[in-house]
Amino acid sequence: MSNIIAIVGRPNVGKSTLFNRLTESRKAIVDDFSGVTRDRHYGSAEWTNRQFTVIDTGGYVANSEDVFEAAIREQVVIAIEEATVLLFMVDVVTGITDLDDEIAQLLRRSSKPVFIVVNKVDNTQLQNDASVFYGFGLGEIYPISSMTGSGTGDLLDDVIKHF
Ligand code: GDP
Ligand code: MG
Repeated sequence: MSNIIAIVGRPNVGKSTLFNRLTESRKAIVDDFSGVTRDRHYGSAEWTNRQFTVIDTGGYVANSEDVFEAAIREQVVIAIEEATVLLFMVDVVTGITDLDDEIAQLLRRSSKPVFIVVNKVDNTQLQNDASVFYGFGLGEIYPISSMTGSGTGDLLDDVIKHF
C-alpha cells in the first residue's frame, strides 16, 4: 500500500464512477468497517505497469447539514494523512459550490500533491467551462469524463510521476 490515490469531493461529483473505472473488477483489498471506515472504499489499480491503491470517500450517512459537512471534512482530513496524491473532484455542470470552497481550503493547507479533477466534461463545449476551477488557486486542472473515460489517461500520466 505504498502508493495511494484518494478521491475527495462533495457528493454527486462522480467519485465512485471514477473509482469503479480505475479499479475495474479488481476486488477491494480492505473490507468496510464501521464509522468513518465504512464510508471509505479501497481498491487496487494499475496504470502503465504501476500499481497503486485507490480510495473512494463518500457514502456519507448524516441526519443534518452540519453533521454532513463535518463528515466530509473528516474524510478529507484522513485522506490528506493517508494518501500519496489527492484527487479533488468537482463537477463542471454545477460549477463551484460552498462545499467545494471549504474542501479547497482544507487541501490548500496540505503538503501533498493535489490534482483538481473536473468531472463530467463529456464534450468539448464543456471544456471551456472547466477553466472556472483555476479560481481555487490550486494549480493545473484536469478535465475528465468518468463516464466515458476521456481525460483519465492524461491525469494518471501526471499522477504516477509522484510515486
Ligand atoms: P459520488 O457521489 O461523487 O460518488 O458520485 P457518483 O459516482 O455516484 O456519480 C453521481 C452521478 O453523476 C451519477 O448519476 C453518475 O452517473 C453521474 N456521473 C458520474 N460521472 C459522470 C460523467 O463523467 N459525466 C456525466 N454526465 N455524469 C457523470
Ligand atoms: Mg460515491
